[in-house]
Amino acid sequence: MNRIVIQIAMEAEATGVIDRLGLREVADAFGEGLPWRVNQGEVDGAEIVLVRPGLDEHFGVDQIGTQPAAVLAELAVRTFGASVVINAGTAGGFAAKGAAVGDVYVSSSRVCFHDRRIAIPGYDAYGVGSYPCADMSEMAHELGLKQGIVTTGNALDLPEADLAMMAEYGGEVKEMEAAAIAWVCAMHNVPFIGLKSITDLVDGEHATEDAFLANLNLASERLTEELVDAIQWLARNGV
Ligand code: SAH
Repeated sequence: MNRIVIQIAMEAEATGVIDRLGLREVADAFGEGLPWRVNQGEVDGAEIVLVRPGLDEHFGVDQIGTQPAAVLAELAVRTFGASVVINAGTAGGFAAKGAAVGDVYVSSSRVCFHDRRIAIPGYDAYGVGSYPCADMSEMAHELGLKQGIVTTGNALDLPEADLAMMAEYGGEVKEMEAAAIAWVCAMHNVPFIGLKSITDLVDGEHATEDAFLANLNLASERLTEELVDAIQWLARNGV
């Protein structure tokens, strides 16, 4: 049976899909007393495993960013096995590239880091990463989703140096987890898909943090709709 692993960073981004698909909670799936959260279920003959990093025990917020993302992806792939991993979440988009709040993008070609600047030959390319994404152009076309290069860093703001790096490889969907998860998938030879709903426009008139909070619910609802469609598409097509 195909096993679709879905990894989501924030609880607010995950509650919709848990409800819609009736995914049951699996307690302590990766060990007792750890923050990781897992829900499981079945859709059209495919097994679904939804994982989130949970709350940080010291700071009380969702464990967003690359290091929880990488550790969790490794645990999920190792423990459950995966036919495919979908990293679903929110992201910043660029109005100049045609993005609007609530648009949902599927990752195209590869996912890169935009804040790992290491100006030493060999390490410069390692810093950017550039991990493969599954070719989902047929699904994107059928579901009417945009496609774009997803780009990952550990900051919500966008310094000039990060923007310059993104411009080099055409990054247009800015978030904080995908490249870390795609790196784990590449090691395990598991296809990776990013599915990202735009909460804020990084070149828009509103501050990123204000737009993020104002649009999180709308973007999460859009994400839920498209994630459910994508899961059904993958199950139907035996991916
Ligand atoms: N202040 C927010 C935290 C959001 S941080 C809160 O309290 O809820 C951003 C999260 O959403 C990360 O998981 C990241 O992947 C995604 N994200 C959305 N917009 C982003 C942007 N413009 N830049 C980077 N990450 C973004």
